[in-house]
Amino acid sequence: MTTGFALHSISIYDRGTRIDDALLVIRQGRIHYAGPRRERELPADLPLIDGHGWGVSPGLIDLQFNGAYGHDFTRDPSSLLAVARRLPETGVTAFLPTFITSPIDSYIEKLNRVRIAQQAQSQRGETGARILGAHVEGPFLNPAKKGAHRQEWFIDPTLEALEQLQPLEAVRLLTLAPERAHGLQAVRWLSERGVVVSIGHSAAGPQETCAAVEAGAALATHLYNAMRPMDHRDPGLVGALLVNDTIRCGLIVDGVHVHPLMVRLAYRLLGPERIALVTDAMAAMGMPSGESLIGDQTVYVDETSARLADGTLAGSILRLDQAVRNMVAFSGCSPAQALQMATSTPAAVLGLEGEMGRLAPGCPADLAIWDSSLHLQATFMDGRPVYTAPAVQPLFASLASPV
Ligand code: ZN
Repeated sequence: MTTGFALHSISIYDRGTRIDDALLVIRQGRIHYAGPRRERELPADLPLIDGHGWGVSPGLIDLQFNGAYGHDFTRDPSSLLAVARRLPETGVTAFLPTFITSPIDSYIEKLNRVRIAQQAQSQRGETGARILGAHVEGPFLNPAKKGAHRQEWFIDPTLEALEQLQPLEAVRLLTLAPERAHGLQAVRWLSERGVVVSIGHSAAGPQETCAAVEAGAALATHLYNAMRPMDHRDPGLVGALLVNDTIRCGLIVDGVHVHPLMVRLAYRLLGPERIALVTDAMAAMGMPSGESLIGDQTVYVDETSARLADGTLAGSILRLDQAVRNMVAFSGCSPAQALQMATSTPAAVLGLEGEMGRLAPGCPADLAIWDSSLHLQATFMDGRPVYTAPAVQPLFASLASPV
């Protein structure tokens, strides 16, 4: 029985570096070797595949993803597994299903659904992108920066409210506005319990931002969006984030949410280790234009954006593989750096360095394979092809059985 494969004549993209004429050896679903070909003999016991100069990166990781393919997780959390099964066609192998603001007593059902879906993936051999836990965006947000969230469900993050987020183990990341009453206590309480806290939908100023970072906030949600614009006399949250030395920022690089020049500005100041590309995709991603839903609100979708009736952006229809290409075009970064912002940087946000988002020996062989223009050719999970573009299907057909 096949126990793996070796891919040669490839370029490897790993944490911002690129190795040409590389060799990748997969054994038992894990990365055995990823490095220069000249430093290793080709393994004699494994199928050898000529990569024709393709690029190979870790599978992509999306920290903010509300749904796709007609499904909205906030509205229908039972759709998690169906959407996860299709996500590898965008290069994504792990993600945080994201719930927008909902009545506080409704989270228990959503979070239980996340636990059930995670158990199905780990115990029943359910295929699909890995569900790493929920991103709970709200309900502790600032009404002045509500975006497409329902303001009537916003509340203060009191201990009583936090204790309703059950099961808390299903919450991987939580976006809040730290300037709300009890905000800093909530940042500490959540951080101490292993939840990554992200500042977002917030009108915090520089001092409040620094206090939130000191209390444990490790991320900012969709930099620039649902934040006050930066002014030279009033730098606000955006100014505070751009000069902070530790916090990372999610960024929606669809060319609509943020002007390409402001993407370039963020990249120059933060670099690839501090920007996590996110899609913020919603149900209309992967669907034709027309009407869709986010939570319980109608959204109008065209070729580039999804908006409420009043024009407010309501998530995106961006794919993460497209965000990678856009990042190269907008910021002038290299493909290796753009891929870093969709792999090892989001993994680091979640404290998963060394476990995913890298092509390091021992990591699961979750891979994305790219042509020279960064278009996705194939996605692997645990060393098995889970998506192949038509042109490369014959090459990987022999690997479709478990390895
Ligand atoms: Zn948002």
